[in-house]
Amino acid sequence: MTQATSETTFGGAALAALCWPRFHPGEVWLAGAGPGDPGLLTLHVVNALSQADIIVYDALVHDAVLRLARPEVVLEFAGKRGGRPSAIQRDITERLIELARQRRRVLRLKGGDPFVFGRGGEEALGLATAGISFRVLPGVTAGLAGLAYASIPATTRDTNHGVILVTGQYAAGNQHSLDWGALVRTQLPIILYMGMRRLPEIAGSLLANGVSPELSVAVICNATTPQQCVLVTTLARVVRDTAAQGLGSPSIIAIGEMVKLRAALVPFAITLATEP
Ligand code: SAH
Repeated sequence: MTQATSETTFGGAALAALCWPRFHPGEVWLAGAGPGDPGLLTLHVVNALSQADIIVYDALVHDAVLRLARPEVVLEFAGKRGGRPSAIQRDITERLIELARQRRRVLRLKGGDPFVFGRGGEEALGLATAGISFRVLPGVTAGLAGLAYASIPATTRDTNHGVILVTGQYAAGNQHSLDWGALVRTQLPIILYMGMRRLPEIAGSLLANGVSPELSVAVICNATTPQQCVLVTTLARVVRDTAAQGLGSPSIIAIGEMVKLRAALVPFAITLATEP
């Protein structure tokens, strides 16, 4: 049997023969860069990186991804930190509109998927209102890739028939604030984005709604990057253990029994940490 080499299996003529969209001047492409590992970029995003005139990127987009852009590209940082006022979001949308009106090929690059807690929806609405043509390129979201890279299946038929993706940076008291009791009643695991700042409050709400203090929790920090670290603990101990280990953002917090499957998978899972 012939062993496949990287030349025969990766890229090559078949890939080049696929019809890749042309990035036209005056368009904005709203793209997801995935959670960090450049191997998780989609081919559409790689195609976009090879054509963009300017990339407006967020704090969670990794340098390894930006280095794949064409050399003449202009890089513009538009990072926001959690909790800042939404006026800043408006400025970013206005900047995208301004750049598109200058007939640039504008790649708006966000961490993960642009429409998952990424304000991509708001930006798309702003562009549509301004009459700017845009394309959305989905990305691999941190909540799912983070679990996978931590050897935690998001679902299995034996553990759970669904998962709930939620953000910890919800606006308390408004019509969209989270009803933790309702979430708990579904008995589905919770995958929490932006959960570190309010972790004490969120863990407290879950416990107050009857979740077992012994329920398994994983905190996956810097998922899919060489700095990835995974803490496995319980709901009762998660606040103390994350503080003790000095874990911060960005982290995905997985709350549910499926976290326990990791122990059986880790010894044989080839991961960033075990690769040479
Ligand atoms: N659109 C992004 C999410 C943006 S919200 C996506 O689909 O992934 C920002 C939050 O995403 C962070 O607070 C963190 O909870 C999560 N996140 C993004 N990248 C991450 C990474 N590499 N490791 C762990 N969490 C990450």
